[in-house]
Amino acid sequence: MSSAGYEGTCNPKDIEAAADILTKAKHAIAFTGAGISTESGIPDFRGPQGLWRQYSPEIATIDYFLTHPKDFWLFYRMRMSALFIAKPNRAHMALAELERMGIIKAVITQNVDGLHQAAGSKNVIELHGTMKRAVCLACGRTYPMDVVIRKIDSGQVPPLCDECGGVLKPDTVLFGEPVKDFDRARELALMSDAVLVIGSSLSVYPAAYIPIFVKEMGGKVIIINMEPTELDYIADVIIRCKAGDAMTTLLNEIKSKMGNQ
Ligand code: NAD
Repeated sequence: MSSAGYEGTCNPKDIEAAADILTKAKHAIAFTGAGISTESGIPDFRGPQGLWRQYSPEIATIDYFLTHPKDFWLFYRMRMSALFIAKPNRAHMALAELERMGIIKAVITQNVDGLHQAAGSKNVIELHGTMKRAVCLACGRTYPMDVVIRKIDSGQVPPLCDECGGVLKPDTVLFGEPVKDFDRARELALMSDAVLVIGSSLSVYPAAYIPIFVKEMGGKVIIINMEPTELDYIADVIIRCKAGDAMTTLLNEIKSKMGNQ
């Protein structure tokens, strides 16, 4: 594994090693977490400015939602203020460009913010759902989140279904709920010979199995994170710097390698 503990600017040797893996790979995928979106102004959970430094993770459990729907929605409404104005940053844009170039075949994300699609990524699997929608727990009807926000802001907390009066829940996966599309994500990982992990603490399962599957099949693991992750020991390359800097430099390095071939 190349040098870890390189704070601040990205170590050029690590960028070069990652670019080498990605340009040689036949089927590379990306696996992203909340850390790719912090530079868009959305706090992560476990990073230095993470939400769990202010709130208990219990608030994001299905049990808490079912027993305290009003408190949950007031918390979620506050979170959505940052999520709704957020725009994709340099890391999302570079990743979308790598997909257009054919280097990255798919993005498997734990994020619920929709910023990969906003950046232009096409093949995106959202393991933890999306906060762009809410779903009625009683009848399954879905609502665009801006409609739900209007309900909350006009005093209906928790927001209710127009059809059946059931309680609405964000269409995200809360702790204690099964992830979405995991079989498809696992299949993709098992056929991949490289995974680019960006901004995940790699501590939430089953999502964190994705890089493990790639490694077990003999593929390479590249990790971009400002801090150590729980799976650094399986990484072939660790780029210890901000996702925006890392992805911009990596994209340029890949372009220059491809231009030189
Ligand atoms: P996490 O909070 O556990 O970890 C985030 C990681 O990103 C940390 O290791 C941190 O060091 C790193 N990081 C933060 N900013 C970075 C940056 N600019 N550059 C590089 N690395 C950076 O997040 P996770 O691993 O995705 O898992 C936790 C859960 O968080 C997931 O279930 C996800 O659904 C949820 N979540 C999503 C969003 C979102 O959609 N944007 C936001 C918060 C939490």
